[in-house]
Amino acid sequence: MNTQLDVDDSTVRHVVEEVLKRLGHTQRDTAGSRPEVATTATRSATRNRHSSSKRKFGVFEDANDACEAAHAAYYQLRDQGVAARMKVVEIVKGLCDKNANSWGKMELDETKIGRLDHKIEKLQIVKLTPGVEWLRPDAMSGDHGIMLEEYTPFGVVGGVTPITHSIPTLSSNVVSIVSAGNAVVFNPHPGGARCANFAVRVFNEAIYRELEIENLICSVEEPSLESFDAISKSEQVGLLVVTGGPGVVNAAMKSGKRAVCAGPGNPPVLVDETADLDKAARDIIFGAAYDNNLLCIGEKEVFVVDAVYRQFLQAFENAGAFKLAQSQLDQLEKVVFTYEDDGGGCSHPVLNREMVGKDATDLAALAGTRAPAGTELIFAETDASHAFVVEEQMTPMIPVVRVRDVEQGVADAKVAEHGYKHSSIIHSRHVDNMTVMARELDCTLFVKNGPSTSGLGLGGEGYLTYSIATTTGEGITTPETFTRKRRCVMVDNLRIY
Ligand code: NAD
Repeated sequence: MNTQLDVDDSTVRHVVEEVLKRLGHTQRDTAGSRPEVATTATRSATRNRHSSSKRKFGVFEDANDACEAAHAAYYQLRDQGVAARMKVVEIVKGLCDKNANSWGKMELDETKIGRLDHKIEKLQIVKLTPGVEWLRPDAMSGDHGIMLEEYTPFGVVGGVTPITHSIPTLSSNVVSIVSAGNAVVFNPHPGGARCANFAVRVFNEAIYRELEIENLICSVEEPSLESFDAISKSEQVGLLVVTGGPGVVNAAMKSGKRAVCAGPGNPPVLVDETADLDKAARDIIFGAAYDNNLLCIGEKEVFVVDAVYRQFLQAFENAGAFKLAQSQLDQLEKVVFTYEDDGGGCSHPVLNREMVGKDATDLAALAGTRAPAGTELIFAETDASHAFVVEEQMTPMIPVVRVRDVEQGVADAKVAEHGYKHSSIIHSRHVDNMTVMARELDCTLFVKNGPSTSGLGLGGEGYLTYSIATTTGEGITTPETFTRKRRCVMVDNLRIY
């Protein structure tokens, strides 16, 4: 005989919480080291604990609270299976597309760097980030049965995003991370945190409406180095993904947590005597002027072989690049860089962050000249050791360096790239030259005869993400980057013949 007990939700919650308290359960297990699967009771207790307070929709004052909430959300996502991951991806991509205009403006208003048209486009293209479909298990079948290798989540991923693409990096990271079955906690760049947190709230509200998962995408309201430290030390976080410059990459590598590091670049371009110069000029302007050169993959310095140097400069001007005279370059250099004593009697250039992502016409004015309205890129002739070449300066002012030949061009490009192994570009019809440069620089992205953006599936084959894991070698991140690989074996059986 079945008996039915009529108890309300709060009674159940109370009993579960009491039992958990007596068992000394803390919910602080990580996905990686979790000794046992969390029961439905523990999951619902955690869910209720977070639901009973005012809903945060992912934005937390305290980084540890954010990690805890994300951990609970991870179990909720797991309960709802692959279909829920697909729904989240659909929500995030859809909201980026729908809100591209207003969010792009919000990001520009807050960060004050880059260009509105490209801020909008960078949100519209989040939909090109690979989703759940990316993960396909590998299988083997033989005389000893069958083997299946599956991609499984870490649990909670901790993310750090740059000021250069605050909402786009966060959103694209969410697509990759949640496709792999994880929840995420972000420490956004303080200079782009307001818009990042706005997007986090909107994503979570929609996810909650559709799936009743409350804090799948978490972030810290006022991010700081301390909150980064808390995230990287949290037991609930199984993996970090950091996108930014050398400071954060070093901090992540020292954190003791496994880290996927999408670090700095300084992409050189080489133009040889076989190149289509008009196309090379147009492509370089497109890539280097994109969002006022905020892209880490964006062309940052151009080396042109002597044989076509003058023709290239003409083609560059014909295509719309505005040339600075030597005295104007000198004047601009004093604004864009300060020089600090390195303690050893030498001085080195330090980038004035105020200049990053400024409009080309504003930079021309600072150089003491006037570029025509609508000028997207300015340039100047420099030598290979100029600060504009050596520093990753993220402005739409690109130095052009004359080199003797391809050999010298590749050598200078390699020095300028600093061994980041990030991105490089060649304009050439000579496959040997392409091969030499590919081998010497050994970059994660190497684009031949196109703008840098074609390396991320925009006008070239491939796919998009905003985190290119250069330092740690995972390459252009995908959902697979955020998984653990697990093997399941059936011995001597289930192979049909
Ligand atoms: P940044 O290094 O100043 O900041 C990046 C993030 O790291 C921010 O959230 C910042 O608050 C945090 N941070 C900085 N120092 C830290 C530290 N010591 N400990 C903890 N957190 C720290 O970079 P940015 O100006 O925001 O972005 C531009 C840089 O990012 C460039 O170097 C660019 O090449 C790089 N970037 C790389 C990729 C890639 O995919 N490889 C993508 C975008 C940007």
